[in-house]
Amino acid sequence: MLTSIVGINWGDEGKGRMVDLLSENYDIVCRYQGGNNAGHTVVNPMGKFALNLLPSGIFREDVVNILGNGMVIDLEHLHGEVQRLRDAGVKIGPENLKISDKAVICMPYHKLLDCYEEDRLAGAAYGSTRRGIAPVYGDKYMKKAIRMGNLLDMEACRKSLSSIVAYKNLTIEKVYGKEAVKEEDMFAWLETYGGEFKDYICDTTIFLNDAVKNGKSILFEAQLGALRDIDFGIYPYTSSSSTIAAYAPIGSGVPNLRLDNVVGIMKAYSSCVGEGPFTCEFFGKDAEELREAGGEYGVATGRPRRVGPFDVPASRYGVKVQGADEIALTKLDILSYLKEIPVCTKYELNGKETKDFPYASVLDQAKPVIEYVKGWNCDISGCRKKEELPKEALDYIRFIEKETECRIKYVSVGAGRDEYIVMY
Ligand code: GDP
Ligand code: MG
Repeated sequence: MLTSIVGINWGDEGKGRMVDLLSENYDIVCRYQGGNNAGHTVVNPMGKFALNLLPSGIFREDVVNILGNGMVIDLEHLHGEVQRLRDAGVKIGPENLKISDKAVICMPYHKLLDCYEEDRLAGAAYGSTRRGIAPVYGDKYMKKAIRMGNLLDMEACRKSLSSIVAYKNLTIEKVYGKEAVKEEDMFAWLETYGGEFKDYICDTTIFLNDAVKNGKSILFEAQLGALRDIDFGIYPYTSSSSTIAAYAPIGSGVPNLRLDNVVGIMKAYSSCVGEGPFTCEFFGKDAEELREAGGEYGVATGRPRRVGPFDVPASRYGVKVQGADEIALTKLDILSYLKEIPVCTKYELNGKETKDFPYASVLDQAKPVIEYVKGWNCDISGCRKKEELPKEALDYIRFIEKETECRIKYVSVGAGRDEYIVMY
């Protein structure tokens, strides 16, 4: 069984939480894109964790976790994250964590360049996490990157690094007028943090194909959501990688394998970190109440997240581009404080109403059409069966199912591993 777990919205839907839960039934969990700009929260019997690079299957002892070739890896950050988890009693070693030899290394100068560019843009910044993600993906496609496999021959690695650092310093000094980075510092960084992970490097194409041949199952864990995808998202306010389910086999090293199932993680309301058009956005008191209720502050950055009601055009689009077979609807419990629940059912654009998600740059002109559905207005966080949910909550679930044209299989009513309901 090859399953992909992906975000339907703008990210922070609760993917980490669902991967932690569903990985019980899988042998392998792969992250296949992005870097440490992810913040996946997991609350389980071992504690509460915010994962940036490590797959959310890391807490299960018999699961092998993979950082795929589609990822960009800040080795210093990985070192810190692994240490943090080990301190909490999580076992991590080359047996249960493997890093693709083709994954790209996010270097200290990528972080610098990310900051220099955001600062240059000032008021028009993209709202980057400043963790070097756009610069490192840029270098990947410019073919100026160091990959994990290069660490296995440090002599050759030094030669590549030398030429790349000279190239990067042209931009650092001549475009941004900043101080050049030193090749020896970058090499020392690679030796220190790369050295630690040498035994983890592997050819995931061989590893995963062998695993599948031996009947093993794989769960692919995406970062961010459909609307942040580099091609299909709200470009340029997107991430720099493909957050789409169809990319999972490619970004993990198995472009020859086909997914059996796509689980879309969809939030019962909307949230969006950073800049970009967010048609359904709440402001003022409505926003504050929802942000407080949902604890909507970024895991990676601590930034207050922008919030709004469930957005039908955006979520329908997310379901479609992800090719979702089933949905996990998360954070339904957060809406319990509302007597009437607002839903953005359509956009109004050029005097016409539409349920289709418009081209990114046209989105600024779109206005939300809000309808209200009856709330349940009571605590549902203790519900574990469909039958225990109030009628209004079931109606809300059915309403969203109908509007997004996808079945909701799981409903989550709390952050803890067991706080969910299976709908069928
Ligand atoms: P991810 O990036 O998609 O993994 O999501 P985040 O971890 O960034 O954000 C989801 C937040 O909601 C985290 O703080 C989770 O612990 C929390 N969470 C997930 N599912 C639920 C839920 O059903 N109810 C509540 N109250 N919190 C949830
Ligand atoms: Mg997150």
